[in-house]
Amino acid sequence: MHRMYSRKIIDETFRLKTLGLTDKQIAAQCGVSIFAVRHWRYGTRRTPESESDRADYCPRCSTGQLDPEAYPYLLGLYLGDGYIGRLHRDVTYLSIACCDTWPGLMIECTEAMSAVFPVSVFKVQRQGCTEVKGASTHWTCIFPQHGPGKKHERLIALEAWQQELVDARPDRFIRGLIHSDGCRALNRIRKKNGEGFYEYPRYHFSNVSTDIVELLTAALDQLDIPWKSHVKRQEPYLDQVTVSISRKAAVARMDTIVSPKY
Ligand SMILES: [Zn+2]
Repeated sequence: MHRMYSRKIIDETFRLKTLGLTDKQIAAQCGVSIFAVRHWRYGTRRTPESESDRADYCPRCSTGQLDPEAYPYLLGLYLGDGYIGRLHRDVTYLSIACCDTWPGLMIECTEAMSAVFPVSVFKVQRQGCTEVKGASTHWTCIFPQHGPGKKHERLIALEAWQQELVDARPDRFIRGLIHSDGCRALNRIRKKNGEGFYEYPRYHFSNVSTDIVELLTAALDQLDIPWKSHVKRQEPYLDQVTVSISRKAAVARMDTIVSPKY
């Protein structure tokens, strides 16, 4: 006779698996037998697309689908200012630094991580910012841009399947990039008669990787959002490219895509 397990327990076993625990450890932690754990993962499926087949969390290792809204956003966050580190053995974590001034970003970042994987998210408080970290064995599968050294020291090109997801939701990708490494700032210009200032908002994105800048501008082009860029020479450091979006209609469009940080 089969004992019925709750969905929650079954999901939990898969979540722990993505964290790199062994079947034995998972069984102990969830209070189920090791056979049950293995059955859920490798057992015969009732139907190929059965909802109970939750082994498909990683779309690169199996046939799972990445969340079409969360993934382009998270990719933007990762490419802008995130990094992948190693916890132990094959368990990695994705880290996104969120400025404490923007608690909304921290929440959205946490939600996006959880929508992509059943990760366990933990937060590390630093001065002025909080690092949001999610552990999984699969980050490097879905962010193949990971590699040794800094992002600007290597070629950053999207794989075809990533490009497809970005092309489907360029707005979500732009939102992620601007949230991590961009800003909406007020530009002040003194009036010609010297009395007071004109103020107008504009969006900026600065990065030393020209590849990443080009990914942003390609997404902006796709949405017909005009932009300008300039290069800041900063010897002996690397040149920094800044993309700015400042035309009134374009800023209004960006406000609907990115919305001011909160
Ligand atoms: Zn994987």
